[in-house]
Amino acid sequence: MEEIHSETAKPDPEPKIIGLTGGIGSGKTTVAHFIEELGFPVYYSDDRAKSIVNEDDGLKLKIKQLLGEDSYDEDGMYDRKYVTGKVFKNNDLLEQLNEIIHPAVRIDFEDWVKKQSKYLVFKETALLFELQLNLQCYKSLLVTAEDNIRIKRVMDRDQKTYREVESVMERQMPEKDKIRLADYIIYNNTNLEDLKEQAEQIIFKIE
Ligand code: ATP
Repeated sequence: MEEIHSETAKPDPEPKIIGLTGGIGSGKTTVAHFIEELGFPVYYSDDRAKSIVNEDDGLKLKIKQLLGEDSYDEDGMYDRKYVTGKVFKNNDLLEQLNEIIHPAVRIDFEDWVKKQSKYLVFKETALLFELQLNLQCYKSLLVTAEDNIRIKRVMDRDQKTYREVESVMERQMPEKDKIRLADYIIYNNTNLEDLKEQAEQIIFKIE
């Protein structure tokens, strides 16, 4: 008797996740935009975190329980200024707030990955190594530049003082530790053309 072979559709393999990171003003968002131009999806963790605090009712409740009703204004929108004032210089509260927000972002990211059809997707986050998110990634890609260059770029972008930018930088993981942990590194010390070229070469290598 003739054997009948049924063609069962194989599910698409899970996309490989590349963690894209860098300290303040390193140029990671600029690189993320180049990556999108190349046709790869990018998840912007910080942007998503800013949206999630307004979208997720469970999260809203937990934040109000931790920091008070004033964490949301009369329109029900997250009051960033109030929250920053509350957690500023209170590491314990900041840690508790992060323990509420970070898992929500992680779940949101997992949902996002499931919807992607590309074989490579990117997760842009300043905290890739700090939160050990690199362990859930296929590879990590660090964007780095000399401190003075990063400070100058952020001063121009955000109208901040040298000291304001420097103090954020001082609270981030030292660059040398990130360089040690990263699989791929882009040195963003020159111009945008050079940055784009490096990004393209690395994506080509990862592919
Ligand atoms: P943050 O974590 O502070 O959001 P980031 O790592 O995402 O920073 P970007 O916003 O990509 O950094 O870059 C910081 C600023 O520097 C932006 O205004 C960007 O346009 C500019 N910039 C980045 N790379 C270069 C470059 N090679 N030449 C000139 N300007 C650059």
